[in-house]
Amino acid sequence: MLLDYHMHTRLTDGTMEPADYARVAIARGLDEICCTDHAPLGNRETDWTLTSANLATYVDWVQAAQRQFPRLPIKLGLEVDYFPGREDWIRELVGLYPWDFILGSVHFIGDFPVDRSAADWKDQNIDERWHQYFQLWEHAARTRLFDSLAHPDLPKKFGLRPATFDYRPALRAVQVAGGAIEVSTAGLRKPCREIYPTEEFLRLARQFDIPITFGSDAHIPDDTGANFDKAVTLARRCGYDKLCRFTQRRRELVPLG
Ligand SMILES: [Zn+2]
Ligand SMILES: [Zn+2]
Repeated sequence: MLLDYHMHTRLTDGTMEPADYARVAIARGLDEICCTDHAPLGNRETDWTLTSANLATYVDWVQAAQRQFPRLPIKLGLEVDYFPGREDWIRELVGLYPWDFILGSVHFIGDFPVDRSAADWKDQNIDERWHQYFQLWEHAARTRLFDSLAHPDLPKKFGLRPATFDYRPALRAVQVAGGAIEVSTAGLRKPCREIYPTEEFLRLARQFDIPITFGSDAHIPDDTGANFDKAVTLARRCGYDKLCRFTQRRRELVPLG
């Protein structure tokens, strides 16, 4: 089966509406999709997340798409930024609607935006930033607030990476927490031109017996399920033959591909 568990609408930094993604998913033969728009941060409004004012609209849109396309399961999800100390807000958010899936992300190291632009990375200590990022990622895993962790090696987006990096502590944290990780084809559309996470990471994840979700991180409907053939090939090469699906936060494994 092919399930795309990561996409955004025009309420945030995406375009169009859930129904438009559903239409593409059906045309491409996907078995299920999950909308995961950016959750409100809770302590400030941004131009790239939902707000407390339009969160209900988002839920309405997803539910309307579910009625419009009864043969395609369309799950209600959120991509939630992890910030240390904001766990209570995330718990509150999670209690507001009957979410199927909560995708955790680290987009910020303090005020430093990990994936905004290559210019932000100019003059940065790459090794240090990678360590800081994965520390946060590890903490995010330990909270057990998230069903899957998005685009695991996001700091490679602009092609800047340490010569070697030990992913095992981060993966061990996910394993202990019983979490899952995302295989994201978005990286193929970025300067790094590589799926998130890198093959070495995914092989280790398989050894740790960590299940995976698939996501395109589509911000336009045409990217729904984009390059999933490549993601399937990579996952299989790393030893995976199953994929996660979530219903009201309950995880189930389905055959991959
Ligand atoms: Zn993200
Ligand atoms: Zn996203």
